Amino acid sequence: MSNMILGKHEAEWHRQVPITADLQALKEICWINPGYVPVSQAVLDSPLSMADIRDASDRLARFAPYLMEVFPETAATGGILESPLRRIDRMQAALERAYGCTIPGSLWLKMDSHLAISGSIKARGGIYEVLKTAEDIALRHGLPKPGDDYRVLAEDRFRQLFSQYEIAVGSTGNLGLSIGIMSAALGFRVTVHMSADARQWKKDLLRQKGVQVVEYAADYSVAITQGRKLALQNPMCIFIDDENSQTLFLGYAVAALRLAEQLRREDIPVDAQHPLFVYLPCGVGGGPGGVAFGLKMVFGDHVHAFFAEPTHASCMVLGMATRLHQAVSVQDFGIDSKTVADGLAVGRPSGFVGRLMEPFLSGCYTLSDERMFRMLAQLVDTEDIRLEPSALAGMWGPVLSARDPAFAGYIARHGLQAAMPRANHIVWATGGSMVPRAELDSYYQKGKSLS
Ligand SMILES: *Cc1c(COP(=O)(O)O)cnc(C)c1O
Repeated sequence: MSNMILGKHEAEWHRQVPITADLQALKEICWINPGYVPVSQAVLDSPLSMADIRDASDRLARFAPYLMEVFPETAATGGILESPLRRIDRMQAALERAYGCTIPGSLWLKMDSHLAISGSIKARGGIYEVLKTAEDIALRHGLPKPGDDYRVLAEDRFRQLFSQYEIAVGSTGNLGLSIGIMSAALGFRVTVHMSADARQWKKDLLRQKGVQVVEYAADYSVAITQGRKLALQNPMCIFIDDENSQTLFLGYAVAALRLAEQLRREDIPVDAQHPLFVYLPCGVGGGPGGVAFGLKMVFGDHVHAFFAEPTHASCMVLGMATRLHQAVSVQDFGIDSKTVADGLAVGRPSGFVGRLMEPFLSGCYTLSDERMFRMLAQLVDTEDIRLEPSALAGMWGPVLSARDPAFAGYIARHGLQAAMPRANHIVWATGGSMVPRAELDSYYQKGKSLS
């Protein structure tokens, strides 16, 4: 008797959606999205547009003087949180040696790992949503007036105002850090509902900042469900919903405008002759979805976005391939969602992101935790850059672009072969700089022991 999964025999799933068999077997896969269409067509059904991204970008600009004042480490960038883009050609050579391939074009690292305030990609969406929340509340109280300097928000009267509200969030760790630190700085009361896999140092750091941390024995979906339920009972509580928030998504999407500027400064063209490939570690989907969506708005068909997931937490590819999105979890298919990759240990994808990204996303792939660790050590050895394991998930993409048959099919179908030697590959490094050094060292040792 075959297993029943969501009302269908397992064998039936394997026949209808063959990738599900490989995902269940925890194989590393590369899935090309059959729903991908040209941007001109994809935008027709999109609930969000470039105008929304510009609005988010403008809001962040309004807050820049405030951030500079409250977080002096952001002064160097004028209160704008942005990460370096770095060429990593020694790593490119190391990957080519280790995996016996030639990666066509140039390899870059987008170092969100080193974003100010919270050291991960969550500093984009999480901080943006807290700032927007603060602005909405302040505006309801008539302040600041348009054109006012947002530094006033650091004054006592605003801290008093914000302290009447509570902000709550469910998190595997990094979102909690971003939202906790930013909310506490503004004067909000904050509760972070944390899943079992969240690191002790993150809980400690948050408590140090006056954040209430509620711990759950279960995974992320339970933490977020419980958090949402508790927050609903309190009318002064604002729940930041990682699975459904357009605001978070737009905060992430602003990255695209900034990256476009960085590429211009570096004289890196993105056009038919110079395709841009971007590889984004994916948990619930908001971070990578927002960035990829933004990039599609800016660069259209010349950018090719791929999501990277751990073999044990392949929720987005499962949701997209079955087209069930948030109605399916990896656990339904007997996959445990256990991975060392913080932020990626997610069993159920965001349906909002999955559906929105259906026509925009080029594909998804999965990789083992061991592979993340090995590449983590390689990056230290070649470039002296220390990241957390999740941040290496994107690093496998350029290797796949060079040697995976499904990826080769994608390149051929889109007529990209001739341009590949001029391609740019951006690996989105999503976190690492806040991780305690001893923990980073133990990741490195683990990677070396596996090499
Ligand atoms: C949260 C996170 C991601 C993925 O973001 P989602 O919005 O959950 O998909 C990737 N890497 C790190 C380090 C993260 O913290």
